[in-house]
Amino acid sequence: MANSMLKNKRFWIVLLLIAAFVLPYLPIWTPSPKTITSDSTSSNAPEKPAVQVNVPPFNADSAYYFVEKQVSFGPRVPGTPAHKKCGAWLVGEFQRMGMTVIEQKFKAQTYFGALDAVNIIAQYKPELPNRVLLCAHWDSRHIGDKDSKDQDKPILGADDGASGVAMMLEIARMLQANPIELGVDFICFDAEDLGDDRDPQAGGSIMNQGNDDAKTRTWCLGSQHWSRNLHKPGYSAQYGILFDMVGSRGAVFPRESYSAAYAPGIQNQLWNIAAELGYGASFPNREIGRITDDHVYVIRAGIPTVDIINVPNPPPHSFGSYHHTHNDDMSIIDRNTLNMVGRVATTAIYRTAAGTFL
Ligand SMILES: [Zn+2]
Repeated sequence: MANSMLKNKRFWIVLLLIAAFVLPYLPIWTPSPKTITSDSTSSNAPEKPAVQVNVPPFNADSAYYFVEKQVSFGPRVPGTPAHKKCGAWLVGEFQRMGMTVIEQKFKAQTYFGALDAVNIIAQYKPELPNRVLLCAHWDSRHIGDKDSKDQDKPILGADDGASGVAMMLEIARMLQANPIELGVDFICFDAEDLGDDRDPQAGGSIMNQGNDDAKTRTWCLGSQHWSRNLHKPGYSAQYGILFDMVGSRGAVFPRESYSAAYAPGIQNQLWNIAAELGYGASFPNREIGRITDDHVYVIRAGIPTVDIINVPNPPPHSFGSYHHTHNDDMSIIDRNTLNMVGRVATTAIYRTAAGTFL
């Protein structure tokens, strides 16, 4: 029987046709480039079964575009037309990506007067109780006080402001295209960067063990307002990630000490993911001290939150040379940095949805 079938021409044609249609669909022929094995680095632990979580590819070109678009409005200083226009665009983008948006308006009491400000809160699957919070500030600094010229003019804040929000927009876009069963809140805090930095001896941006003074409280006005007026009564999330200056060339993200103290497990997991993805050099394990940033106030609202922030230098000039200068424009933004941070964050989020993060 076998012999006669092999000699039959029609049999061979049918067999070839079946092969042509079926083989491309067999899993062995289509190894997914999206698949990341969560314990791929632990080659000496064969007893632990590999947990596979599909993480969609992060699109750094799209994230770059979102930075560029925000910068195109000009400096986003609360109370200015550029700020208003960019805010409206952000609300529209998050809505276009299927998010439910809340605009939390408030008066920012800055050291130079009261300004109209708004926290923009975009909710992915607001009905789900199990949530993760992502945040960044969307305002840009009103002065270039660290520059040698035009110190009284506002800066573009391509990295300090736009990069963190771009990260959130791109993650929102990814969630819409690749849904998960996890609630995610994207909070664009306003009025983070209007702080009083006139006397560096007074502590500046370094937090003194949580004992904040009047000067410290001039920063992070949006997150301070939100922590006292949660967008939903009793709101909580498993954990939070703050993106601040996550797009510049050659960025270094050491472990921020406030995060290490209040969200040690989450910080460990994130830095482990970075090492696993091959980004260990950009996410060194050393601590860099406590930084006054929006995560301080999210932590005070009871949500353990980690700050991912570019701190390439030792103190006292810890931040990048572009920080609070007019050099903080598109020329310093690098897709590779956006890609690294994006992949670390999205790996954490998709693993959280799969129950393999914490
Ligand atoms: Zn800043």
